[in-house]
Amino acid sequence: MPEFPNKTTAFIDWYLDVVEAATLTDKRYGVKGMNVWTPYGFLARRNLDGVMVREIEATGSMPVEFPALIPENEFAKEKEHIKGFDAQVYWVTKGGASDLDIPLVLRPTSETAIYPVFALWVRSHRDLPLNIYQIVNTFRYETKTTRPFIRVREIHFFEEHTCQTDEAAADARVRSNLDAFSRMARAFALPYVAVRRPAWDIFPGAFYSIAFDIPVGASRTLQIGSVHHYRENFSAPYGIRYETADGAQRLVHQTTFGLSERLLGAIVAVHGDQKGTVFPVAIAPYEVVIVPIPSAGDAPSPEAVALEAVERLRAHGRRAHLDGGSERPGAKYYRWELQGVPVRLEIGRREAASRTATAVDRLGKKQPVVLDTLERDVDRVLMEYDEALYARALAAYRDAFRVVTTLDDLKSVTHVAIVPWCGSEECGHRVETAIDGGLLGTPESALPLDLGTPVSCIGCGSVTGLRWALAGRPL
Ligand SMILES: [Zn+2]
Repeated sequence: MPEFPNKTTAFIDWYLDVVEAATLTDKRYGVKGMNVWTPYGFLARRNLDGVMVREIEATGSMPVEFPALIPENEFAKEKEHIKGFDAQVYWVTKGGASDLDIPLVLRPTSETAIYPVFALWVRSHRDLPLNIYQIVNTFRYETKTTRPFIRVREIHFFEEHTCQTDEAAADARVRSNLDAFSRMARAFALPYVAVRRPAWDIFPGAFYSIAFDIPVGASRTLQIGSVHHYRENFSAPYGIRYETADGAQRLVHQTTFGLSERLLGAIVAVHGDQKGTVFPVAIAPYEVVIVPIPSAGDAPSPEAVALEAVERLRAHGRRAHLDGGSERPGAKYYRWELQGVPVRLEIGRREAASRTATAVDRLGKKQPVVLDTLERDVDRVLMEYDEALYARALAAYRDAFRVVTTLDDLKSVTHVAIVPWCGSEECGHRVETAIDGGLLGTPESALPLDLGTPVSCIGCGSVTGLRWALAGRPL
């Protein structure tokens, strides 16, 4: 059995090996950073998407799908946005042997695809709010080292785009997105902090950006999603106007909410261990795997009981899988642990005779379940497992932050740092230099530390304008 690199001391090596061994993706495709979704990874992704769809539609957002190609003239309308993405876009310049009249951009994100059409859809205050989302692939010519799910060139992307009557309504939409994300993150069992990005690190074209960060060991962080308020920055160049109730013409205020396959990387990174991946129930391709342990000449046979169990669990709506292959049971246990299956049911001769099964969850908890009440018993075992998984992630999250008050201490910090900051860009960059990473911004959600009141800025010693800010080394 291969051993994985140590997650704590060699995190990236561990991550790459686990993703590969668990067959979540195949990175041997002929374009670097464009990976193949394997069946097992695809199933996990579909579950991830299912949670996003459920939560965003509960807030009144409707699904759409826009084309992948954007005409150059539309792409070029918002200048900050272009500046931010120009170096990252793939161009389509030919149709067959002929040069295209207007070159086309392969969407790096879809503002410039969607907003010319929003200008046609939005006419009156009665058309607002307009809340739509799509889950599509986007393309970015990434020049940094690519990593499966975390930094790729073809991205499985969730993006919500909305039009609101005014700035306050757009603020409210941002809040609604933050709430929706907190419900998604609970399904993923991921503790996170919502952080208002500093002015020099907002999304290109945004008025403000709030991102979701998770600690992933030492001082490293991973951004797993973001919400943006655009004010009128896009509606002005794209002419997205509406008529108010008293006949005035006004520009809409816009918001977006972006998530991606990076969430799958985050789930691997946060929950995985030295045995491989660990899936929360909502995302697990298989929630339960049933392993019969063959033994000759007995009735009822473990195989027959296992078959009954898988059929009943499926009828109950569970993603259950029967592993009736000829491998040794030990090899099967090893493989399903590597693949992060929340619960396996072992059924041997003793269990079959007493119509029971031994449930072993991915965190190692073992308990008997009774076949006659199998559905209810498995529901309970899975729920307990999910609670334990979240508790474990929360304990690690709580220990991930440290308050740091001098630049010197920041240089050697081994946690995500919480620093007193005056809010100036200059001091922000001092922090970034000292930690050799980023000033992530100011927390919008509670941190698991008793912070008290900041005393003086870590960069300049100023006592005015003080707030706590997060600093770390983004993956
Ligand atoms: Zn300062």
